[in-house]
Amino acid sequence: MRVVLVGPPGSGKGTQGDLLQKRLAVPHISSGDLLRESASTGATEGLKAKEFMDRGQLVPDELVIGLIKSRVSAPDCKKGFVLDGFPRNPAQAEKLQEVLGNGGVDHVVALEVPEQTIVGRLGGRRTCSVCGRLYHVKFNPPRVEGRCDNCGGELFVREDDRETTVRERLAVYTRQTEPLMGYYAGRGLLRRIDGAASTEQVTERIMAVVRGCDD
Ligand code: AMP
Repeated sequence: MRVVLVGPPGSGKGTQGDLLQKRLAVPHISSGDLLRESASTGATEGLKAKEFMDRGQLVPDELVIGLIKSRVSAPDCKKGFVLDGFPRNPAQAEKLQEVLGNGGVDHVVALEVPEQTIVGRLGGRRTCSVCGRLYHVKFNPPRVEGRCDNCGGELFVREDDRETTVRERLAVYTRQTEPLMGYYAGRGLLRRIDGAASTEQVTERIMAVVRGCDD
């Protein structure tokens, strides 16, 4: 079961990826998380990637493809995975196809969310500096302001969740990632769903797609 989630930043790919990981019993792989982890270890590639990320731009393909390649080749991905944030353009999709070989990806689900909703979601987003759990000041606040429910870590605003950077990320998405829809639609793999519905509804719709009973 190889599932790819596509959608603009703030469309809920990360949240759905976590939920699907439990429902489908396959790992949730976020390219953004892999890049942030790489940057936090101080690795040269990671630090280079961070410069692009902080500006809201896509990191060069060669910096992200290597990370994804080794992650999807790990033993826990034998039964599949839920990919979130990769691929982001047709060139990356081709690379993924190459790495996976026969069979390739089974389902590509596009989460569609209006721009205004996204700006509201990302502007209020807070991230735990220790375990990475996500919160929202309005929709999903922590029990104690500024502190993670899970580990007590301090919550912060990611550099790329600031409003001007969010707008840049959305522009980048429209310019560079939307062509990906055409790539997967042309191969009969793409299903578009309403990502502005409730978290539970979105999960059920994705599950219907992967079970092949969404028609
Ligand atoms: P995300 O957590 O998916 O919103 O990703 C955060 C940032 O990581 C993006 O704005 C990009 O700078 C970078 N990034 C994540 N995935 C990719 C990718 N597949 N290709 C290029 N850059 C990426």
